[in-house]
Order: sequence, then structure tokens, then C-alpha cells
Amino acid sequence: MSQDCIFCKIIDGDIPSAKVYEDEYVYAFLDISQTTKGHTLVIPKQHTRNIFETDATTAEQLFSRVPKVANAIKEAFHPVGLNMLNNNEEAAGQSVFHLHIHLIPRYGSDDGFG
Ligand code: 5GP
Ligand code: ZN
Repeated sequence: MSQDCIFCKIIDGDIPSAKVYEDEYVYAFLDISQTTKGHTLVIPKQHTRNIFETDATTAEQLFSRVPKVANAIKEAFHPVGLNMLNNNEEAAGQSVFHLHIHLIPRYGSDDGFG
């Protein structure tokens, strides 16, 4: 837990979130800014700044859950595709410094993303 980290606060329930998936190691929730319907963030419960500071075990735990979360999104929102996105450091667009994977469901060429 990092004191000033909003995603650690979300994991602890101090900041409310719309949960998509949770287990011992991973939490997934709807992004507050829905790039497309069902835009979800998948994060490790262990605080880590980004991919540069993530050990292999935490990375394995995180990435191994992505297919399950992607399929939960598919069942709930019925997209026809999905983008996975991960920003590391400010220069690459990272704004929250707790590792996260964006899952962005796609609904066709006019869905407003890309
Ligand atoms: P980044 O820009 O770091 O790759 O992505 C951070 C994401 O976190 C953004 O898409 C932003 O909308 C989302 N976000 C920031 N604060 C909150 C919050 O308090 N709750 C939720 N659910 N998402 C947040
Ligand atoms: Zn954190």
C-alpha cells in the first residue's frame, strides 16, 4: 500500500469503484473515464509504479488474469474487439503511478477510439 496512491485506495475500498474482477492478487474495475463502454483497468494488489519496477511474479499474476477479465468484459458488453494498453512513465502517458493495464472494448470503426 502506498499512502498517496489512488489505486491502492481503490483496492482498500477507501475510494469507491465499479468492480469487474477480484482475487487475492489482482483487482479490475471500470475506468472512471470510459474511453469506450466497459473500459476496464486491471491492477496488481501489490503496489508497483509501473512495468520498470515490477517483479516477474507480480507481472505473472497480473497478466495471467487478463484473459479472464477480457472474457468477462466480452460477456457483459458484447464488444467485437478489444485493445490492451499499458502506459509507463509520464512521457508514455502514465498519469496514475500504480501499474495498470487498460482493456478497451471495441465496437466498430465509429466507437470513438483510435
Ligand atoms: P494512465 O493515464 O495512467 O494510463 O491511466 C490512468 C487511468 O486511471 C485513466 O484512464 C483515468 O481515467 C483512470 N482513473 C484516474 N482516477 C481514477 C479513479 O479515481 N477511479 C477510476 N475508476 N479510474 C480512475
Ligand atoms: Zn498503489
